[in-house]
Amino acid sequence: MIEAMRKAGLDLTIFFYNPNIHPRREYEIRKQENIRYARRNGIPFFDGDYDTETWFERVKGLEHEPERGERCGRCFDLRFERSALFAHENGFKVFTSSLGFSRWKRLEQVNESGERAASRYPGLTYWTHNWRKGGGQQRGIEISREEGFYRQGYCGCVYSLRDMRPRREHGKASME
Ligand code: SF4
Repeated sequence: MIEAMRKAGLDLTIFFYNPNIHPRREYEIRKQENIRYARRNGIPFFDGDYDTETWFERVKGLEHEPERGERCGRCFDLRFERSALFAHENGFKVFTSSLGFSRWKRLEQVNESGERAASRYPGLTYWTHNWRKGGGQQRGIEISREEGFYRQGYCGCVYSLRDMRPRREHGKASME
């Protein structure tokens, strides 16, 4: 996504807000990978809070939902609402998300949530582009190899970590 945006001459900024990620060690690893890549490419990086209390409150009662279910919708909403606020407060007109890049996510669910968050602020748009298309997915894999990126074994939250074991046992480890 970043490469495509830079090639198109877009001026971009990374905002990292992922209080869903558990445990903290995993959160730090993923964040540091983002920072490393951003620094090397001269992209401004902004760090949102590791606001886990708000996240757990938001998904309460949905602990046993499967991935792509209602819990994920709430998780997206929280993260997009915070991102939309950041965009609004800092004068950005468009925002998008790496969530839409993962083949483990339902793109419609991601896009609906992004658009809902954008609609809170006049003049703000959520970019619903399908980053996987047009060779994007393959290029993502190549960049990941070239960069030696850390490969996450589960989506992020404590519940996806819990549910990872059965999936792995069936030989379908989740790699975003
Ligand atoms: S599985 Fe992923 S998207 Fe769904 S609630 Fe957990 S961290 Fe959020």
